[in-house]
Amino acid sequence: MVMLQPHDGKSGEPSFFKFDQISHDCKQGGSRVKASGNKNYRYGGFMKGKMQDWPLLVSKLIDHAAVNHPNVEIITATVEGLEHCYRYIDLHLRSKKLGQALLKWGMVEGDRIGTLAWNTYRHMEAWYGISGVGGVTHTINPRLFTEQISYIANHAGDRILMLDLSFVPLIEGLQDQLTTIEAFIIMTDRSHMPETSLKNVICYEEFVEAEDGDLTWPDLDENAAAGLCYTSGTTGNPKGVLYSHRSNVLHTYAALMVDALAVGGRDVIMPVVPMFHANAWGIPYLATACGAKLILNGPNFDGATLHELITRHDVTMTAGVPTVWLMLLNHLEETGGDLAKVTKVGIGGSAAPRSMIQTFQDKYGVEVHHAWGMTETSPLGTVATMTHETESWSAEKRLDLQCKQGRTVFGVELKIVDDDNNEMPKDGKAFGHLMVRGPWVVESYYGDDGGTILDDDGWFNTGDVATIDAQGYMQITDRSKDVIKSGGEWISSIDLENIAVGHPDVAEAAVIGIAHPKWDERPLMIIVPRENAQIEKADIMTFLRGKVAKWWEPNDVVFVDELPHTATGKILKTELRISYEDYRFPED
Ligand code: ADP
Repeated sequence: MVMLQPHDGKSGEPSFFKFDQISHDCKQGGSRVKASGNKNYRYGGFMKGKMQDWPLLVSKLIDHAAVNHPNVEIITATVEGLEHCYRYIDLHLRSKKLGQALLKWGMVEGDRIGTLAWNTYRHMEAWYGISGVGGVTHTINPRLFTEQISYIANHAGDRILMLDLSFVPLIEGLQDQLTTIEAFIIMTDRSHMPETSLKNVICYEEFVEAEDGDLTWPDLDENAAAGLCYTSGTTGNPKGVLYSHRSNVLHTYAALMVDALAVGGRDVIMPVVPMFHANAWGIPYLATACGAKLILNGPNFDGATLHELITRHDVTMTAGVPTVWLMLLNHLEETGGDLAKVTKVGIGGSAAPRSMIQTFQDKYGVEVHHAWGMTETSPLGTVATMTHETESWSAEKRLDLQCKQGRTVFGVELKIVDDDNNEMPKDGKAFGHLMVRGPWVVESYYGDDGGTILDDDGWFNTGDVATIDAQGYMQITDRSKDVIKSGGEWISSIDLENIAVGHPDVAEAAVIGIAHPKWDERPLMIIVPRENAQIEKADIMTFLRGKVAKWWEPNDVVFVDELPHTATGKILKTELRISYEDYRFPED
């Protein structure tokens, strides 16, 4: 092989090879490169490819599972307190039975059917059964405020609400405000049906088992709506993101990639992230695609139950938000347990603290896939995995990268812009508004709430503020509304919080901007200490020193017993800002 212009592998300059001299071991150009001559080819306009038009439908995923991995198990820790086990072939049949039952009931294409349910096999049947026959599975987050739940169900125009036993009392209280729901399907069997004041109640098992499953899924348009999920509405009313069959299937392919969630047919996945939160990161779809065994934790989120499920069922991969992992890691710490066969954990929804990534990796030998996304992005956007270049970096520098939210998965485009929509440099330093686009990114909200939400080039403003470095790793530095504006510069509340939770006596930390006469805003740090910890402001300030720029150090640190959280487990900064509205720094 002759290199006409030697390439040092670093400069970013292209290399040139002489075609006829390329040898078989050439890694860069392939070995059979020939100039084509282009004699007979002339571009004359659009030419349609001659490949099959196979619509990307969610029903194809469950059909695939039934044919290719029929005997793979789905195990659920049920709401009724028992463990249920069946196979993909059973999920397929019962999803069809549910589809038949819904059509017989009078559901028509495009109808929204609400679900208020944990991660269970029945909820999986609802996902496939509803959208398989053309309905829209509207997953409602039961942790929302009650007014938000009724707002969402009414706004979506849900005709049926399918609910777990746990939520019957909640919905009894809301029944009069639910103006579009014609029937309530309680997701249990006859023997567990509760006494209830709900009107038009149907027992799920009776509804499903009255059918024979002899149904062919309709040939839907792949752009038809398949699912609906509302954002948690930290500002204003929640808004609906209406996923299509196509967007869900494309997201499935992407999420399976090695540099995304990296799962396959040998995995046992426990998606602790709930199915009512941003599609459970697509796991109920990608498990059917690849044939992974599924362990569903039902209403159980405590460290002891999660650990028990992980150990008993040889879970290899699990995914969830940092709050859940904090509970699990505390449990392991107290009991001296380990993570058995788990090799990978997905962490997202909020920033994974450095100490958490280190504990998973160094203490338990579990690789962390730190991911970023949002309801509006289906949700997968970026994952912090290594590349050719970064794999050889020192352990400390790789950990720095894992603390970032990562590189885009193919199908998602990212950039950062300033207030005037000018693109900012990808140097890992400049922060800007994070913009995103791609085939599983929202185009507009359900009911066109919020009007046009894309700019002229189709970019969606995520509301996050981020940096992107030269290797393409994106790092969220804040939500636009949470960033602290001090003397014309921005201070990242998230960075400060992440460092503070690395202190052994800190359980949780929040940082908000407080009005300041000279600097506009300055940071106030609010800390929940660990149980029985004796900790003071001076300890925190010493801990932060040298880890952040001097001017980022908070002007004060206060201690509280607990912090308010959103329905998706994030710190509710809006409420903190109201609580500390009249707060003044000691020096003021
Ligand atoms: P919400 O309805 O609360 O906005 P989402 O789950 O859609 O619920 O939240 C998306 C937001 O969560 C993102 O815009 C980002 O601010 C935050 N987020 C998600 N993943 C991460 C992460 N790994 N690190 C930091 N923030 C994250």
